[in-house]
Amino acid sequence: MSLKDKLAAAGVENSALESRWILEDMPDLSAVQINDIAARRGRGEPLSRILGTREFYGRRFSLNEFTLDPRADSETLIEAVLRYEGLKNSILDLGAGTGCLIITLLSELPQARGVAVDISTEALKIVHKNAHTHDVQHRLQCTESNWFDSVSGLFDIIISNPPYIKSDVIPDLEESVKNFDPILALDGGMSGIEPYKILLSNAKKFLVSGGRMFIEIGFDQADEVARLGADAGATLIHMHKDFGDKIRVLEIAF
Ligand code: GLN
Repeated sequence: MSLKDKLAAAGVENSALESRWILEDMPDLSAVQINDIAARRGRGEPLSRILGTREFYGRRFSLNEFTLDPRADSETLIEAVLRYEGLKNSILDLGAGTGCLIITLLSELPQARGVAVDISTEALKIVHKNAHTHDVQHRLQCTESNWFDSVSGLFDIIISNPPYIKSDVIPDLEESVKNFDPILALDGGMSGIEPYKILLSNAKKFLVSGGRMFIEIGFDQADEVARLGADAGATLIHMHKDFGDKIRVLEIAF
């Protein structure tokens, strides 16, 4: 049986299209590999995890089991930073995952330098790899750190797509998310906003005066996170909406 037929038999809807994508990347699959791929897709594993890559803002990024699968929603953050007209020569990305945010920004802003922080060594290996693929490795420092703990210096811009799902909602997420995205990258604690408390209460110390922070939020968290920002003495500059017209990114000054 061909890959297309195996995928269809495993219940994959777009088996023709998917088999074409897979074979473009892996043209010489053995029968054993074909069976394995069909079985994994049949169990709901996202194609991006099987291929080990995902397209984000027109570029291809490697991913692994320690990184979130980059989402189109997060392109809202990229657009927001690119639209910002202030200084953006130094950028700090907290919880970089694959590095898709910081590496996209460094690719779009050739004068910028960045620091990518993640708590996971394995995620940072992927950031490193992606930085090489997109030829920004000389402008990107990778730092293993729990949020700001091992970060020093001042930045024009701080960005983050932190974990923001409430712990008790995780079991209700789609299979393709809860079974394959790392829980560490999803779980925002009981309130879902625990990471924002850390981000918002520390950002000022790491921003140049007049610097900006751009943070991704869950579709229903704008008010709550904006309130945390106000408590931390921040000014909400703008709420950026995603393609689905949901507020997805808060632009904040201190
Ligand atoms: N957007 C992701 C989801 O809905 C969550 C990503 C995150 O927690 N940062 O599954």
